[in-house]
Amino acid sequence: MKSLHFDNRFIRDLPGDAGTSSTSHGICWSAVAPTAVSRPFLLAYSPEVLSLLNLSEADARSPEFLQAFAGNRLLEGMASYATRYGGHQFGQWAGQLGDGRAIGLGEVINQAGERWELQLKGAGITPYSRRADGRAVLRSSLREFLCSEAMHHLGIPTTRALSLIATGDGVVRDMLYDGNPAVEPGAIVCRVSPSFTRFGHFEILAARGEYELLQRLVNFTLSRDFPFIVGTDAERFAQWFHLVCERTALLMVEWLRVGFVHGVMNTDNMSILGLTIDYGPYGWVDNFDPGWTPNTTDEQFHRYCFGQQSVVARWNLERLAEALMPVAPSRKMLDAGLAHFDDTFQSSLSKMLAAKFGLLEWQDDDADLVETVFELLHNAEVDMTEFFRLLSEVTCHAPTVQHLKPAFYQPSLFDSHAEAFTAWLSRYVARLQGQSDSDWARRTRMNQVNPRFVLRNYLAQQAIDAATQGDMSMLNRLLDAARQPYADSHPIDLIAKRPDWALNKAGCSKLSCSS
Ligand code: AMP
Ligand code: MG
Repeated sequence: MKSLHFDNRFIRDLPGDAGTSSTSHGICWSAVAPTAVSRPFLLAYSPEVLSLLNLSEADARSPEFLQAFAGNRLLEGMASYATRYGGHQFGQWAGQLGDGRAIGLGEVINQAGERWELQLKGAGITPYSRRADGRAVLRSSLREFLCSEAMHHLGIPTTRALSLIATGDGVVRDMLYDGNPAVEPGAIVCRVSPSFTRFGHFEILAARGEYELLQRLVNFTLSRDFPFIVGTDAERFAQWFHLVCERTALLMVEWLRVGFVHGVMNTDNMSILGLTIDYGPYGWVDNFDPGWTPNTTDEQFHRYCFGQQSVVARWNLERLAEALMPVAPSRKMLDAGLAHFDDTFQSSLSKMLAAKFGLLEWQDDDADLVETVFELLHNAEVDMTEFFRLLSEVTCHAPTVQHLKPAFYQPSLFDSHAEAFTAWLSRYVARLQGQSDSDWARRTRMNQVNPRFVLRNYLAQQAIDAATQGDMSMLNRLLDAARQPYADSHPIDLIAKRPDWALNKAGCSKLSCSS
């Protein structure tokens, strides 16, 4: 554990306070110590994140590690703080939010010279907790731990998770918001990211008219998080916003590729680095449905549903642009960034879809081919993940709709749509025959972009149920499968479509924000 070298730039370069005042103004962070927990117990760690930090598995099993990442003791060089941000939630300005239950522990510089900020989620009350308790329950912490690692292995930009530690303390939550609060086991995840800066960090300063500090935060972000951008101040600003828009667009395409629905794309949950951040009521699409949202709070308007994510990301970038207006060299630069979002999204969406369908290049007619099958997949309630793996096995000389049958949830919908799928398959095969390619080569390519394993909600829920009984085997099996999401062979129970029992079970398909 002695090998951790800290260089805590966020709190060194930006103003903060002692965390004692109730009105925060002119600051980006407040000092706060984690609240100690009674009986910390290490439930899981990520060996990959350990090695990012140059820590060993022996370190992870040491008492110092447990105490540090449960929030009971700071290691040498650590500092602890909560940061100040605001945000637009469900389309409305929500004012100041801030790290209500996240506590930064500082920035590690690893042996490769990379910077990794550490942050405990659920480590107790901070000056930004408002009326909440600063804690997190095991179920949501386990979901965050597993999913951030799964996303990483899928090749999708994300914050990472070092450890999952049970606190030994109970946390009261009304999970279904139905007036039945219950005590649940508490847990703490240590998240790891090059930066935890969110759109909301800029928004709060703009909303409060703190333009000088806004300028400082922009300068800081450029210097710490985008050091490779060079030029005059105006050039750097323009390139930076351009890149934020680009990365956000690419992230949206990646979520579409694998069927990930974030669930709460408020501007306070948008990373300035274009990372997936804040895993709450997220979900993975089972039966293909662009209108699907896992978040029960969003049931009425489906603002954050699968097919809307790019539209919302664009909207969120517009809010960021507004916040940056007071310090932007020109409005034109912001508009150019937003236009770049549209271009990037469109061009990378086409590229991604071509790859998903095994097309060597995207042609204009392909949009119709793809839209037709998406509509069929939706109407016939076909499993997205299963469909694309089966599609990769279709051969040009003998395409058969029977081959796709395992991806259907309902036999009757297979029967009623078989003809339409057969017609679509012959169009698809004709398109494939127009490219110089072999079935084998196409299949290999498709299986590199269409995952075999995704962290379906019902799987994560099984890991939660077992972990609540003290059994971590399911979590470990899922973590193992998540390491090779594109591999062909996986334990059959980890790649099965959502079983019927999971359709209406809490946590398996829909989730509340309670966490
Ligand atoms: P989220 O919906 O998790 O992105 O959180 C939105 C805001 O509520 C953030 O400012 C969080 O820090 C805060 N928050 C959520 N849960 C808690 C909690 N249990 N205690 C304190 N603050 C919380
Ligand atoms: Mg959040």
